[in-house]
Amino acid sequence: MQPTSSKPFSYETFPSAGVVAYFSMEIAINPGMPTYSGGLGVLAGDTLRSAADLGVPLVAFTLAHRKGYFQQRLDLKGVQSEEVQQWNPSDFCIEEPARVTVSVEDRIVTVRCWRYDLIGRSGHVVPIYLLDTDLEGNSGWDRGLTDHLYGGDTNYRLQQEIVLGMGGARMANALGHRVNVHHMNEGHAALLTLALLESLLGGGPLGAPTEADLALVRQACVFTTHTPVPAGHDRFSTEQTIRILGGDRTARLEKLGCFRDGMLNMTQLALRFSRYANGVALQHAKVSRAMFPEFAIDSITNGVHAPTWVSEPIQEMLDANFSPWRRDNLYLRNAIDLPEKEILAAHARAKDELLAEVAARTGQVLNAKVLTLGFARRVATYKRATLLFNDPERLLEIATAAGGLQIIYAGKAHPQDEPGKALIQQVIEDAAKFSNHVLRIVYLENYDWGLGALLTAGVDVWVNTPKRPYEASGTSGMKAALNGVPSLSILDGWWIEGCIEGFTGWAIEDGADDVEEAASLYKKLETAVVPLYLAAPEQWGRLMRNTLAFNGSYFNTNRMVKQYTRNAYYPVKLIEQAKVEEEAFAD
Ligand SMILES: *Cc1c(COP(=O)(O)O)cnc(C)c1O
Repeated sequence: MQPTSSKPFSYETFPSAGVVAYFSMEIAINPGMPTYSGGLGVLAGDTLRSAADLGVPLVAFTLAHRKGYFQQRLDLKGVQSEEVQQWNPSDFCIEEPARVTVSVEDRIVTVRCWRYDLIGRSGHVVPIYLLDTDLEGNSGWDRGLTDHLYGGDTNYRLQQEIVLGMGGARMANALGHRVNVHHMNEGHAALLTLALLESLLGGGPLGAPTEADLALVRQACVFTTHTPVPAGHDRFSTEQTIRILGGDRTARLEKLGCFRDGMLNMTQLALRFSRYANGVALQHAKVSRAMFPEFAIDSITNGVHAPTWVSEPIQEMLDANFSPWRRDNLYLRNAIDLPEKEILAAHARAKDELLAEVAARTGQVLNAKVLTLGFARRVATYKRATLLFNDPERLLEIATAAGGLQIIYAGKAHPQDEPGKALIQQVIEDAAKFSNHVLRIVYLENYDWGLGALLTAGVDVWVNTPKRPYEASGTSGMKAALNGVPSLSILDGWWIEGCIEGFTGWAIEDGADDVEEAASLYKKLETAVVPLYLAAPEQWGRLMRNTLAFNGSYFNTNRMVKQYTRNAYYPVKLIEQAKVEEEAFAD
């Protein structure tokens, strides 16, 4: 599946005209812009930051999300409430004069966009266009279509996806970009394929596409699927699809095999019209192939943008030892030779910074000498936030033997996810019940970019306890690794590839149920993590530099974007074809 070339990789081989157009429902663009909810958005932002660093000709589309995702508040009992995060695109972006329209139900909705210029380390710019329907002339309802990330019901979602996919594809055109390949980051943008097909057919929803038309669309699209959780794949009923997209389009999509179990399935639609598709870790691709056996699905393992997630003290250490690491993350492999003392000292500064933030937010003063675990992520039931409390007596014994144990939690539950909200309450109740002078547990409000950076850099061990095989990749453990922080995790997602037992962290072994897996978690803490933490500090320092050298040098978007470029956007055959076309054009 992967093209090979005897020529060394060179950006000279990009077709000189045309861009990759990247589409994502959420993108973590700037810490001051609430345009993301979690892992998918952070990955999208890190992808674009690396594309800008590497000079990849790429432009991106998302929605403005004028009212953001939500700001989380937790009361003393752990009950979550949500506040809108209103922001003003004009504070960060430039309004483009271009306008396009999309049809939603029986209305024509006008769409504009705001441009945010993401500037890479060498000065290359990746423009991000935030689509916005808040325009005079649109109805009150339509003006709100680009307000709430993952808000509202499935009707609202389908309407947003029309704006993102069809509006985005048309906007790329209106802005004058010549698009070589459209990358759908998740199925949310899959309707862009319909817009491409309709533009081939002369603009209207009618007309029957030929095999050649379909091949042209496929040639221009690639797709990344992001979750093995079935409910994470958007599906819309025939009734909804007819009402919102129209009867002709619905019939067309059904005929073209984009329905699954009687519903329009956005993953199916994206797969149907992509020449290349991938999952986000080796195992996730396998699981995805089992879910959609009729399609070829490759794997490109996720990464994180190193300069964004490495703490200031670790950055200073890296700059002093091998300065090219920002340009080429492979230099991080040289961390294998770092003096233990240096990495321990840099981490101690990051830990102090985290504990100062904990104190400022909660009034709880944690001890910098005590082993500190971090657990922060979107609170979904499969992530099992309460697994650590499965046997509180046992946890307390371990804490006592360790001379103290501190656990820092954070995470938001989707406003409509009642089981997720109940889990947060449970963690906060357990924290109050089991916390004492030996075992200290805190839950921090409003997990976001800034808190994520502090936590992954400042704790001693990053814990992850998903139920297999539902973690597609996970990226927070990669941020930890780039800071030299080892993981203690279930062998799921990226950790299957990243775990070298005792060198980069530890695996929680598979069990028949939560009780068995919690038992393995306790055993690893008791027999591996705590003894090493209590041993001579150099031993922990060695673990940290191994983690940074092995996992930091690989699980980054610098490597990942190169893989997308070579395997998805411009495999060698396509580059050669584009060259022939360009030469013909020049003649
Ligand atoms: C990195 C990050 C995530 C994704 O972490 P996972 O390991 O995939 O759960 C989610 N939210 C925030 C704020 C992050 O920084």
